[in-house]
Amino acid sequence: TPGGSSRAQEEKIFVTVRVRPLSKKELAMKDQKASWDCADSQTILYKGPPQDRAAPTSYTFDKVFGPACPTDLVYEDGAKDVAMSALTGINATIFAYGQTSSGKTFTMRGVTESAVSDIYRHIQNTPEREFIIKISAMEIYNEVVKDLLRPDSGPLRLLDDPEKGTIVEKLDEEIAKDSQHLRHLIGICEEQRHVGETALNDASSRSHQIIRLIVESRLREASGCVKSFVANLNFVDLAGSERAAQTNAIGARLKEGCHINRSLLTLTTVIRKLSSEKSGHIPYRDSKLTRILQLSLGGNARTAIICTMSPALTHVEQSRNTLFFATCAK
Ligand code: ADP
Ligand code: MG
Repeated sequence: TPGGSSRAQEEKIFVTVRVRPLSKKELAMKDQKASWDCADSQTILYKGPPQDRAAPTSYTFDKVFGPACPTDLVYEDGAKDVAMSALTGINATIFAYGQTSSGKTFTMRGVTESAVSDIYRHIQNTPEREFIIKISAMEIYNEVVKDLLRPDSGPLRLLDDPEKGTIVEKLDEEIAKDSQHLRHLIGICEEQRHVGETALNDASSRSHQIIRLIVESRLREASGCVKSFVANLNFVDLAGSERAAQTNAIGARLKEGCHINRSLLTLTTVIRKLSSEKSGHIPYRDSKLTRILQLSLGGNARTAIICTMSPALTHVEQSRNTLFFATCAK
């Protein structure tokens, strides 16, 4: 629209794709070589053997990162702007989306780490404001929400608050005294998730992890008009996309009993709808994940999605599903 950016543009989700290096296991397979190439900073090309179906050979995104790209650059070009908007009072969410073992956790850890450094750098460079950083963390597994900061917590309920939207009842919220303390608290969450993984061996492929930083800030000056804000910054390590991909790609009917992940499916629907030109009902309320993230997704919030994929030919089907999702999201 003339004279201002359209609603769709404001809400545009920043979508990037990261192709990890071939793993040792993949390299050990016969005739295995990378089937995808980053042609330039925005284009991924298929360069594997000819495929049966008429599948695209080229995909374009806001940014693509090849196997040699370090995580701090992925952060810099794929997440930093979105993350830093929380320091100005705008809710923000950064997702890692991709099949199991494609590099979601690897990427999200590095991105979170870089964001923490940036946040404290900003705080130091902004003496006129006072900041309080808090953290809470949760895991959603089979639509059950658990507190990752409190190992012994049982399932947590979601409540609707007229002002704050959906809140997670009894969710722990810790104040981070400084960056070191914040890293320590993030470490606890990761440890906690790891414990869950070993108890149920595919838990990490089926669960979503949300690390939420709550940024509170106000001007230090003792004037009557004190400008203050609170914003959430969410780092979301999603369940393996193979849990939704089939349905997502072909729009096939849900097969009963197959590994349906309600939160992942609903999220992909919400994101597709937010990215489409048409407005309409956005089904935030259909899953725990989207209810929890509602105020940090769409509207005035900012969102970045880093899609991760393996370059291996063995995974080409899942990689195409991921690229399809990424295309719908942008
Ligand atoms: P996911 O969380 O998607 O299941 P992981 O993040 O656990 O996948 O990654 C699977 C394996 O690949 C891990 O051993 C991880 O260290 C490695 N890996 C992932 N991405 C990269 C990368 N960009 N560079 C090097 N190793 C990576
Ligand atoms: Mg993982």
